[in-house]
Amino acid sequence: MEIELAAPNGRKWTQPLGLFINNEFVKSSNEQKIASINPTTEEEICSVFAATADDVDKAVAAARKAFKDPSWRSLSGTERGALMVKLADLVAQHAETLATIECLDNGKPYSVALKENVPEVINVLKYYAGYADKNFGQVIDVGPAKFAYTLKEPLGVCGQIIPWNYPLDMAAWKLGPALCCGNTVVLKLAEQTPLSMLYVARLIKEAGFPPGVVNIINGHGREAGAALVQHPGVDKIAFTGSTATGKEIMKMASATMKNITLETGGKSPLIVFEDADLDLAAQWSHIGIMSNQGQICTATSRILVHEKVYDEFVGRFKAKVEEISVVGDPFEETTFQGPQVTRAQYDRVLSYIKSGQEEGATIVLGGEPLPQKGKGFFIAPTVFTNVRPEMKIFREEIFGPCVAIVKFDTEEEAIQLSNDTTYGLGAALFTKDLVRAHRVAREIEAGMVWINSSNDSDFRIPFGGVKQSGIGRELGEAGLAPYCNIKAVHVNMAA
Ligand code: ADP
Repeated sequence: MEIELAAPNGRKWTQPLGLFINNEFVKSSNEQKIASINPTTEEEICSVFAATADDVDKAVAAARKAFKDPSWRSLSGTERGALMVKLADLVAQHAETLATIECLDNGKPYSVALKENVPEVINVLKYYAGYADKNFGQVIDVGPAKFAYTLKEPLGVCGQIIPWNYPLDMAAWKLGPALCCGNTVVLKLAEQTPLSMLYVARLIKEAGFPPGVVNIINGHGREAGAALVQHPGVDKIAFTGSTATGKEIMKMASATMKNITLETGGKSPLIVFEDADLDLAAQWSHIGIMSNQGQICTATSRILVHEKVYDEFVGRFKAKVEEISVVGDPFEETTFQGPQVTRAQYDRVLSYIKSGQEEGATIVLGGEPLPQKGKGFFIAPTVFTNVRPEMKIFREEIFGPCVAIVKFDTEEEAIQLSNDTTYGLGAALFTKDLVRAHRVAREIEAGMVWINSSNDSDFRIPFGGVKQSGIGRELGEAGLAPYCNIKAVHVNMAA
């Protein structure tokens, strides 16, 4: 049920391998497993148990029982918040181990996992812990004949399905608001990155959460994920992943009319106007597409540049990528970019690079695999120019360190190009003209707009998309609404 692991940085830990149900690690009913591969070495790290539909049933039953049990249901918001703070503190105590696991399993640089991802978990848990006793209903004055008020109630059992690009952060974004509002959870991890949250599962028990409040399972999407989405005992599904899977989930969830929150794909534009600070634009453009190996749903993967500053911007952007995007072993302090998460993703990104070449775009940087010591799913950061809007590399989400740069002439054309997509997640724009900045921000069809930055998301600010980038919001105060019912109580005072 557990295994001793060691990483190249010398850290050793006991890795749980089971399904975390009722605060215990258990085998899957038929003992099936999923192997987790280290994307740097292409070697297997270990295998974890993978849930069957039967196991999902057990996890849902545990969550349902916990939802009704006074040990959770009768807690005040203040007490729930205290448990969440305890968990955040335990995560902080285990920061180095968690960052090590994330680096090994996902391929992201250790320094990023330690300085960004683990702190995000702590911040999100504490943020929503603070809301746990401040999220309540209203008294609605409709005159002396009626006393009316609302209660904010938890929804019940929440099925949460997360992707592999930010295993820790995505879990925290979902657990934080769900627990704050008093729900119970069955969290399904991504099959590519099962390890870090299994380690957190142990901390959940140690923090003192009653059995069944948080259940964490691994499993294949089509088996365990689909069983969770279709389960009649699940009240809500929150999903982050691809748009195609999001649509399937929406269909499956409709059978029992589940409450759903979806955060799906993107092809976010970044506009550089002629009056922009070009150095600032180049710096954030690099962050916006090359961070996390380009595996970010909000990555600003289409850069639209005014023709007057196009050549200048391309030169500065290329220089930034060459200077900062050091590709290498993710445990090395100097590494900015590690491997893509899996061979499947690596192949997919390379096939998009090939399609860009075939459709006539110009590669000004990168465009090839970059194995380290002959191994690993590494790809050189890739910059395309001479891109036309009908090309696949301009229209489809690549999810890798690969960006398409396009020229525009007028503000109208920049807005038209930005909105010429089925997606609507993020957008960024660079200008020194304050009035134009706010005018364009309103015109762009996206859930989030960054002015003079890109992708500096924040746990206190709502995150989510419009169009085919999703439904609902996570983070910020807005992240609470998808996890509670508002019950209205009418009291007849004329009786
Ligand atoms: P990717 O294609 O990048 O792996 P997915 O959207 O397919 O992204 O996966 C995101 C999450 O959704 C993972 O946890 C995965 O197991 C899960 N998933 C995939 N397919 C399904 C499905 N049909 N039903 C429920 N969950 C699924």
